[in-house]
Amino acid sequence: MRIVFLAALLWASACPPLRAQWYEATQAIMGTRVHAEIWAADDAGGTALLDMVMAEMRRVDAAFSPYRESSELSRLNREAPAGWVSVSAELFELLDQSRRVSELTSGAFDVTYASIGRYYDYREGRLPPDEVRDAAVAAIDYHHIELDRAGRRVRYSRPEVYVDLGGIAKGHAVDRAVALLQARGVTQASVSAGGDSRILGDRRGEPWNVGIRDPRRDGVMAVVLPLLDTAVSTSGDYERFFEADGVRYHHILDPATGDSARDSWSVTILGPEATLTDALSTSVFVLGPEKGLALIDRLPGIDAIIIDSAGQLRYSADLAPLDQPR
Ligand code: ADP
Ligand code: MG
Repeated sequence: MRIVFLAALLWASACPPLRAQWYEATQAIMGTRVHAEIWAADDAGGTALLDMVMAEMRRVDAAFSPYRESSELSRLNREAPAGWVSVSAELFELLDQSRRVSELTSGAFDVTYASIGRYYDYREGRLPPDEVRDAAVAAIDYHHIELDRAGRRVRYSRPEVYVDLGGIAKGHAVDRAVALLQARGVTQASVSAGGDSRILGDRRGEPWNVGIRDPRRDGVMAVVLPLLDTAVSTSGDYERFFEADGVRYHHILDPATGDSARDSWSVTILGPEATLTDALSTSVFVLGPEKGLALIDRLPGIDAIIIDSAGQLRYSADLAPLDQPR
């Protein structure tokens, strides 16, 4: 009896549950394409996990979208110029993490970029009006966001300050969704929101292939990376842009000038968590290839692949072996 039982147990552990397979969904959330692929034991489980991921993305969007009047971030932008505003722990931590990335990047990453950024209209191809420009650029400085940790309150020290978390919120949403999956025992999955992805585990014994788009040729990949257990974020000047008088105006702004950063076409960052890779891809885009790679080479566990403004691929030191003629 005991032997049969043991044999049955061995049999059960050698064979994965019969219906285990990949479950996959794509939805338009946060103004981008959200995609999830999860290895799950059965249809009910797989569908529930996909729904959970999408619901989490929608929750983060509802809380931190600057385009929704009802979001917590919009309330902060309305009220914080006038005085202290109590905020959720999640918003406080996102602002605090943004501040840390600002310090790390000498202000290349700065969520108050939106003090001028809010006046660009990429769809209509409009630049900020001259009459707001000087005051708006002067309002860009993360020090203008005062964070009171003990009271979990925030205020802005200037009336023109406006915050947009677009450089970090998608990475945060991806990390949150992955944490929920891990809490439910998922060990193989991929979750992405636009250019921000997290890879959990492998793909049934194979690596996951993540492509970096060619910034100037639609539908062409510049590089394909075989990856395991990592976060990867790409920022590109082709996502949201317009051209005027031969100049490309796109959505990644240099906080020092309020103008688009033009030393790169695309920046990809690899690291353990998407919140950080998201913020760093925007930061390195602003810093440009030289300063950007110097920064990444100082950060353990973080790597970068840049396509510079001459179309050249450039790698951080740890990825130098990739830089071989093929
Ligand atoms: P996306 O995936 O939307 O292309 P990126 O990671 O490339 O996102 O970041 C671009 C977004 O970051 C912009 O749409 C804007 O919301 C925000 N942003 C732009 N410039 C800065 C900056 N200097 N610091 C912080 N956030 C920025
Ligand atoms: Mg980013």
